[in-house]
Amino acid sequence: MSATPGGIIPNGTRPVGTKLNGTRCRTCGRVATPPEPYGCEQCGALIDSLEAIEVAATGVVHSSAVVHRHHRPDPVTPFTVIEVVLDDGPALKGLLVADGEAVAIGDRVQGTVQDGRLVLEKER
Ligand SMILES: [Zn+2]
Repeated sequence: MSATPGGIIPNGTRPVGTKLNGTRCRTCGRVATPPEPYGCEQCGALIDSLEAIEVAATGVVHSSAVVHRHHRPDPVTPFTVIEVVLDDGPALKGLLVADGEAVAIGDRVQGTVQDGRLVLEKER
């Protein structure tokens, strides 16, 4: 498995191990990653109604697309963008590990943090 390029890098979070930083609303139960900065987007509860949690970096591929033209040099094209519905509820978009096994909608994927980057690959 390679650490570059590829992986989901959620905005504003510092993933640790196989977990992502998140929040859970004590009012409605909504789980979010990256953490909600102001309050719950679902029910409008204020920030003090949210608890910090760890969200497992495992889930199911919901959609995917191969990008052939991109405005930045990194990641190098072509690369695959996948949307993953995490087991804990939230959905994230990110990159599939460049040298990993191809995935299809419905496949399970797992993430690990390598060199500060969350790298997703097909679950084994
Ligand atoms: Zn809520």
